[in-house]
Amino acid sequence: MQEIIVIGGGVVGLTSAWWLLEAGHKVTLLERAPQVGTGTSYSNGGQLSYRYVSPLADAGVPLKALQWMFQEYGPLKFKPQFDAHQWRWLAAFLANCRVDANRQTTHKLLQLGELSRRAMVQLEPVVPPASFQWRDAGKLVVYRTRKAFEAATSKSDSSSTRQVWSAAECAAHEPALADVAGQLEGGIYNSGEAVADCYEFCVTLAERIASHPRFAGYVHGDAQRFVSEGDRITGLQTSAGLLKADSYVLSAGMQSRTLAKTADISLPIYPLKGYSLTAPIRSGDVAPEISVTDFERKVLYARIGGKLRVAAMVDMVGEDLSLDARRLASLTRQVRETMPHAADYNSVTPWAGLRPATPNSAPIVGPTPYSNLWLNIGHGPLGFTFACGTASVLTDLVQGKAPPFTLEGLSLR
Ligand SMILES: Cc1cc2nc3c(=O)[nH]c(=O)nc-3n(C[C@H](O)[C@H](O)[C@H](O)COP(=O)(O)OP(=O)(O)OC[C@H]3O[C@@H](n4cnc5c(N)ncnc54)[C@H](O)[C@@H]3O)c2cc1C
Repeated sequence: MQEIIVIGGGVVGLTSAWWLLEAGHKVTLLERAPQVGTGTSYSNGGQLSYRYVSPLADAGVPLKALQWMFQEYGPLKFKPQFDAHQWRWLAAFLANCRVDANRQTTHKLLQLGELSRRAMVQLEPVVPPASFQWRDAGKLVVYRTRKAFEAATSKSDSSSTRQVWSAAECAAHEPALADVAGQLEGGIYNSGEAVADCYEFCVTLAERIASHPRFAGYVHGDAQRFVSEGDRITGLQTSAGLLKADSYVLSAGMQSRTLAKTADISLPIYPLKGYSLTAPIRSGDVAPEISVTDFERKVLYARIGGKLRVAAMVDMVGEDLSLDARRLASLTRQVRETMPHAADYNSVTPWAGLRPATPNSAPIVGPTPYSNLWLNIGHGPLGFTFACGTASVLTDLVQGKAPPFTLEGLSLR
């Protein structure tokens, strides 16, 4: 049994804490915000997208990215900055924009996705699905151009949960798409995907953690720097004083980069800012039952409880959480156009979050140059999806066990 400090109470830190407790360790959880789950885990797209894991980096993406920047509904915004992180990350991202790199990462993420699906099921007795609006909704990716639809349907996928639908079938299965059916080429439906409220998941899990017999307690404080001696971390300086443990898990989302720097570790993560809109669904509204992804515009639509959640956009603008009025207006226009009757758009709550993204879209889980410091970071656009899987991999590693698959592409190396 080890005493372990987990830094960060987002979905990744909380799942890490739970898995470590269950494996027999004594865990302390450090969170600087007054409440858990209020960082990037707060109002995300809610997708538990175990099979739709395509890394952002792919052949052809650099050219598409240039086009997106000049489109009215472009999903990408790039603001060049005097920031070495931005340029280094961009260079590494471009190096990953290759067919073979994309294929390798996709393979790894599919393995992680399956592990995460099973791990989430394992958690059901502890965090009941109803407590966080979990729904086995299935996912429909719709395509507006023939080229993109043909490229997607020609990809080999033997999954028995996958179906290819025409535009008319998309609208028949998902009436919320009726108004745009004429603009669609078709869609790919996957019945195996789910949707849920990530923040509610965090809150319920935090309650279970609090009552776990081995839980040492929550510390409300800001981790400031690691203290080290040789190849060991000997303490963590925080606003609540110096904390000491046998091991430390860094899972502080985007802030992990700054903290790791205090131990001379350079983390290849960059904040990819995204937005969400949440609108109440009134009786009579035609909200989607199936979770929908508008492929070309990169907009996700999901019914989460009594609300419609829309998530979109990738803005490379540094650690800026401001709500950009122009981006929000563009997103609102697209949503009203695509699903005009899905919710009460006069009562929308906008939100922005920073996806802690690695250049190849794969999280980093595992060891560091310090024998007692572990990473669980860089979950980018799929942190809710992968959190249970990476927590179980991390716990295997801390226990000295081999994880169920090799971690090539998922480690700091
Ligand atoms: C618009 C948008 C849509 C998304 N949609 C989806 C989706 O549909 N499905 C999906 O799977 N993922 C989605 N994601 C990604 C997902 O939200 C993230 O990958 C995930 O929330 C990251 O979790 P985390 O715990 O690493 O980070 P966070 O949730 O940010 O948690 C980090 C925590 O660490 C704390 N912390 C930071 N620094 C310190 C410090 N110095 N001391 C103490 N505590 C500290 C923070 O306060 C925070 O609570 C989306 C993201 C965005 C932005």
